[in-house]
Amino acid sequence: MSDDPRERHAALVRLIEDHNHAYYVLDRPAVTDAEYDALYRKLLALEAEHPELVSPFSPSQRVGGAPREGFVKVRHAVRMYSLDNAYSDEELAEFDRRVREGLPDGAPVSYVAEPKLDGLSIEVVYEDGQLALASTRGDGIEGEDVTANVRTIRSLPLRILERRSITVRGEVFLHGADLEQINSERVAKGEPAFANPRNAAAGWLRVLDPRITATRPLRVFLYQLVDGGRLHQKHSSSLEWLSEIGLPTHCKHVVLGGLEEAFAHVRGFDSERHALPYETDGIVLKVDRYDQQEVLGATAKFPRWAIAYKFAAERALTVLVGVEVNVGRTGALTPVAILEPVQLGGTTVSRASMHNEDQVKALDVRIGDHVWVQKAGEIIPQVVGVQKELRRGDERAVEMPRACPVCGTPAVRMPGESATRCPNGRCSGQRKAAIHHFSRRGAMDIDRLGISLVEQLVDRGLVEDVADVYSLGKEALLGLDRMADKSAQNVLDSIEASRSSRTLERLITGLGIPMVGQVAARLVAEHYGDLAGLVGADTARAADELAKIHGIGPKIAESVARFLADPDERRVLAKLVERGVVAVQPRPEAAAAFGPLAGESYCVTGVLSRKREDVHAMIRAAGGEVHESVKKGTTYLVTGEKVGATKIERARKVGTQIMTEKALYARLER
Ligand code: AMP
Ligand code: ZN
Repeated sequence: MSDDPRERHAALVRLIEDHNHAYYVLDRPAVTDAEYDALYRKLLALEAEHPELVSPFSPSQRVGGAPREGFVKVRHAVRMYSLDNAYSDEELAEFDRRVREGLPDGAPVSYVAEPKLDGLSIEVVYEDGQLALASTRGDGIEGEDVTANVRTIRSLPLRILERRSITVRGEVFLHGADLEQINSERVAKGEPAFANPRNAAAGWLRVLDPRITATRPLRVFLYQLVDGGRLHQKHSSSLEWLSEIGLPTHCKHVVLGGLEEAFAHVRGFDSERHALPYETDGIVLKVDRYDQQEVLGATAKFPRWAIAYKFAAERALTVLVGVEVNVGRTGALTPVAILEPVQLGGTTVSRASMHNEDQVKALDVRIGDHVWVQKAGEIIPQVVGVQKELRRGDERAVEMPRACPVCGTPAVRMPGESATRCPNGRCSGQRKAAIHHFSRRGAMDIDRLGISLVEQLVDRGLVEDVADVYSLGKEALLGLDRMADKSAQNVLDSIEASRSSRTLERLITGLGIPMVGQVAARLVAEHYGDLAGLVGADTARAADELAKIHGIGPKIAESVARFLADPDERRVLAKLVERGVVAVQPRPEAAAAFGPLAGESYCVTGVLSRKREDVHAMIRAAGGEVHESVKKGTTYLVTGEKVGATKIERARKVGTQIMTEKALYARLER
């Protein structure tokens, strides 16, 4: 590399952006994480030394700027349309017929087929080779300026080779695996899961603080060059060109000769798409030639030259019979759609989620409506749309209750939340959900204590809180519906099994303390050792003590302290002890055998951010073995800064994988 810092900087920027492209767009990383990190650190070091080199287009500036007060409106130069849908082969054939009829006699039509990603559409303007403006679709005419947020998305280059001004459109989305991980963390913290990638992407793109967007695994695929006819004759040529100038496009697009080929493609793709790392809810077919697109034009809402073919199996049309409102353990009131049973993805569906009041409003759904229900991955089915053309006029509005449907307490809505809550801590709806949560697999694992049993127990006053589970007798159980001697015994056995053999970490998880997920539960459990220690905690000092633990932030510490000081919660904890519940947390050393690094060996090298002995201790505490040098059988070489090439070569030779210091810490958090 050159000696001139300016040239070195430019070269580093280019390299890093190339790697971003390889990783986020092509899914073919060209370097290991360690090598990427090393380049990035070099860039930071160079910029620290020469602050004048920092440009808005350096990868170091992708961390997000200062939060804003609100969003500025942006007018789209060309209207951003939605897409018309086809749900069957007939509807697709109908689209093809309309297209051909709309064109001068006998003109052959080719279509471009692209996967339809489930995310949020954005428009991005590059001027003089630089990302200048990014906006959401909004109402199609005006969107919101989300430039600062979009700049943090690494699959989108901040600079391109093309100097002419271009406007592109695409979808912000995330990979299914990323969504799953985020959802399991949210659920562990008592937050609602995102129903689909679209909700997650929309939420994160439209936060006022772009630093939040920067930490989220968002990606972009571009699917349109606006006013592409200016530069190319066909949409497919534009897509290829976009990818040539370094922009992320669908690499899965194909050009099809006509309807028959479209059918064949749809079939093939329907079976293939599940192997893709992102969710696709259909295929978009677009007339390839721009001159033909122009002739066809648009309706008030859709272009006439494109259609989204939605895969039928995962969506079904049925009637909304009613809406039930459930109370979650945190008091959140969630509307649940009661449906006329319908076949969907191999199962019969008669209930579906509608998430919250805002969602009900957004859907503008009424009782008696024909609604589309969809199943996304493993997630519970949800109502995704209303077929308003089928309304007869006698549909009734969905009333979200002003009070908790279980206990009647007036519902409240916290500013900034999309859920309405029942604020009554003694609400039996909340208690049922809390007890069910307590018995869950990741918590106390009382497998015979399912939700319907919990409901009966609470309704009959046999159980009020989680501690009462441990004083249940056979008599009481035998009085319940369909409970024979044998099944009563099974319930008691499964409760008994949990009484003394669960770790404190599981018990804490089961208590459902706000913001405390599995990781925090483990740290809190290690701090207090066992249930008696937790009960005896000095509540005045708990927040300060806990906040000192690495991995527990002040908010979590506060939340735990508040829980431990709450007289109602204290009563329940005391009752648990009284009823013989013993929950011991294995000492961290003993836990090592089951730690996240168990069975692995590590050699640490280079200049690290903490003392090497400390890193060794952390590895051992998590069950890993420490090797002083890389040898055959060493699982990982952890690299700090200034790592000698010989070490790396040696690792490659004996098959040891290489990871960064940061990756090691991430692994320790598992
Ligand atoms: P809908 O939101 O159901 O009206 O569908 C229209 C939306 O599909 C567009 O606004 C885009 O956000 C999205 N979309 C996803 N993939 C594509 C694609 N390949 N081409 C066009 N639009 C797409
Ligand atoms: Zn209530």
